[in-house]
Amino acid sequence: MSTGPLTRQADIRKLASSGAVIEGSVKVSELGRLAQALAEDSGTVSYCLRFGVTEEGIPSIAGQVEGSVVVLCQRCLEPMELDLRSEFLLGAVDSDERARQLPGRLEPLVLQEDIVDTAAVLEEELLLCLPFVSYHSQDECKQKVGHQSIEEGAEPVSEERNNPFDVLAALKKPES
Ligand SMILES: [Zn+2]
Repeated sequence: MSTGPLTRQADIRKLASSGAVIEGSVKVSELGRLAQALAEDSGTVSYCLRFGVTEEGIPSIAGQVEGSVVVLCQRCLEPMELDLRSEFLLGAVDSDERARQLPGRLEPLVLQEDIVDTAAVLEEELLLCLPFVSYHSQDECKQKVGHQSIEEGAEPVSEERNNPFDVLAALKKPES
């Protein structure tokens, strides 16, 4: 078993047959695609990638990534910290066709000539576990839940339970 740093170009078969383990941490600012998807490029991500060969003879990577990143709350548009965590099991293949034949427990990692970019693998997994939208918890958010935003200019909802068709009719009226 050997350990090493993240590399942009490594031979998956060598790593797999030696049972290599790559672990450490990397700054978010060094992961360009991830940083672009975030509000700030502060923070670090820790990772552990274990290489091996499955019983079917497929080079594999069992990985864990974990980190804290900063995204924008989609309610108040202020920054918020978000914990990301992912575990994955990848099977290396050389074509989309072989990817479709992989056992279900393996996610395909399609490689050209067995060359793996371990930093890109890590980045991809983090992007996959990044939620599409994030919100502060109710106590922390600057925009209180239930408060109508100014752009909508909506009247507070009446306490009375009106006929839903009246509400629809009101919505269709042009703005007074
Ligand atoms: Zn918020």
